[in-house]
Amino acid sequence: MSVRPIVKYPDQVLRQKAKTIPVVDKSIKALVDDMIETMEAGSGCGLAAPQVGVSLRCIVLGMPEEEPFAIINPEFVKRLGEREIEEGCLSVPDLGGHIKRSISVIVKGLDRNGKPIRVRGKELLCQALEHEIDHLNGVLFIDRVESPDKLFKKEKPVEVEAKDAVAELVSKR
Ligand code: ZN
Repeated sequence: MSVRPIVKYPDQVLRQKAKTIPVVDKSIKALVDDMIETMEAGSGCGLAAPQVGVSLRCIVLGMPEEEPFAIINPEFVKRLGEREIEEGCLSVPDLGGHIKRSISVIVKGLDRNGKPIRVRGKELLCQALEHEIDHLNGVLFIDRVESPDKLFKKEKPVEVEAKDAVAELVSKR
């Protein structure tokens, strides 16, 4: 397993419609394993194959405190409700946006071993499923923002070294 570089917007591969995977063979399992490792290294809750430069229909999901999993050739069975939420993307690192997503979805596809699966997702998992399947169709969350004021620049987190903070406290005494 290895962490693969994440393709960033505006790379072309992010705009292509990814191809259906005909057979879940060893190379696909290796892709899934690398994608899970890459997602975790980037602290993302989902990743689509085009984000590692592979234009195939494969996504991985990683919800907090749950085992990460893959869906190969995912398809929506059902989408219910609508809500506005904040979204970001490992391929669009500088921007965030407020967009509309469903409240719950059912997605079918194949697991890492090529067995049929059905995944029911609510809230965060629902959002991640819709976001990652969008990637397979060349769609980014920035396309779903209804007006420019719903898009914002992410502020870089301020990193303060613990020892500097302590030194500052001590010097103020
Ligand atoms: Zn994304």
